[in-house]
Amino acid sequence: MALKINEYCVACGWCQMVCKNGAIREGDFMQYKIDPERCTECVGWYEEPRCIQICFLSAIEPDSTHKETHEQLLAKWEKLHPGKVPQVM
Ligand code: SF4
Repeated sequence: MALKINEYCVACGWCQMVCKNGAIREGDFMQYKIDPERCTECVGWYEEPRCIQICFLSAIEPDSTHKETHEQLLAKWEKLHPGKVPQVM
């Protein structure tokens, strides 16, 4: 499942800095957005989603409209980073 940014976001930018998939961008109305085509919930990099850990406003949550299995998330990661070895399976 990809993640999404909710209305508590104040566009501080910390989540964008920690996302190694380049999945977080500035959206409209001073809030950031997560691209579900690039978010792997950090599968491939870390045990837990980094952006959720760093957001002090709890503005990042699961997006139930983009449900994916662990295998699908890992396959997405491998497509985003061809030739690289996952840091965490
Ligand atoms: Fe990026 Fe990981 Fe957050 Fe997804 S969970 S947006 S890959 S930092």
